[in-house]
Amino acid sequence: SEHLLQVENLRKYYPVRGGFFRRKIGDVKAVDRISLELKRGETFGLVGESGCGKSTAGRTITRLFKPTDGKIIFEGRDITNLSGSQLRNIRKDIQMVFQDPYASLNPKMMVGSIVSEPLLNYGLGSEKKLKNEVMELLTKVGLPEDAYYKYPHEFSGGQRQRIGIARALALKPKLIVADEPVSALDVSVQSQVLNLLKSLQKEFDLTLLFIAHDLSVVKHMSDRIGVMYLGNLVEVAAADEIYRNPKHPYTQALISAIPQPDPRNKSERIILTGDVPSPQNPPTGCPFHPRCPEAMPECSEKRPHLKEVKEEHRVSCLLYE
Ligand code: SF4
Ligand code: MG
Repeated sequence: SEHLLQVENLRKYYPVRGGFFRRKIGDVKAVDRISLELKRGETFGLVGESGCGKSTAGRTITRLFKPTDGKIIFEGRDITNLSGSQLRNIRKDIQMVFQDPYASLNPKMMVGSIVSEPLLNYGLGSEKKLKNEVMELLTKVGLPEDAYYKYPHEFSGGQRQRIGIARALALKPKLIVADEPVSALDVSVQSQVLNLLKSLQKEFDLTLLFIAHDLSVVKHMSDRIGVMYLGNLVEVAAADEIYRNPKHPYTQALISAIPQPDPRNKSERIILTGDVPSPQNPPTGCPFHPRCPEAMPECSEKRPHLKEVKEEHRVSCLLYE
């Protein structure tokens, strides 16, 4: 199939406990309903404000977290409830690059050992036997070969993220989920790391789920984009379609906030009022209705579903139902 991964109605809730007996008193609906598919070899950008559930979605899709409900199909196989050695086998093909290259690398380990570790964990050779392979990986991500013998603190933020990328690549995964891989880096090195990811994706034939809070970062990276709001996927379309023809009022507001270099293209900035509601107590009906400039009376009662409004363009909004 052209799909590497399919996600259907995925939910991830966290229990909220309270009172003397720490009883469950509710749920944080971090991911409330997500359906999407990743085509082989594509970059899918998952965008949304902080707290919208995109990181939780990424970690649930990679099965770092156990889903509360829904389905995850990877290469035609249902991996939703796998555990133990079966899950381990699948996780070899699905790797993550994390936001903070400082926190995600063990400071006491030599870079060579950090990058070898996943290979050793899967019994793919001894550190000594793997050394050439690991050194080659370090060169591929743009690090000097002697990086092998150094420690994370000897590198800059951008270089540390390259180490994280080398580690993610070591097992030759089919899918990489990159969760805000450049948000912690200086603006001056962000595009270098993004370009590296792009070129490695081609070379290694990777499918990339690229998570970001900034629409202008995903734009140049992504073939398709999904916009999240309060645990829901509200719009999915090809990247240029999202920018030229956003349909969901939330996406329209996000697009209108991107600075336009050409003043003739200046469209009215849509200012959203109100705070993002708590995922512990999300609004009824459409989750966006308390802030939506186009809300109608039924929006507080009826929950919209992601529907195709034209080929390869899906929107979750009652204006289109
Ligand atoms: Fe706005 Fe209603 Fe559409 Fe929700 S369903 S985005 S509230 S118009
Ligand atoms: Mg996050």
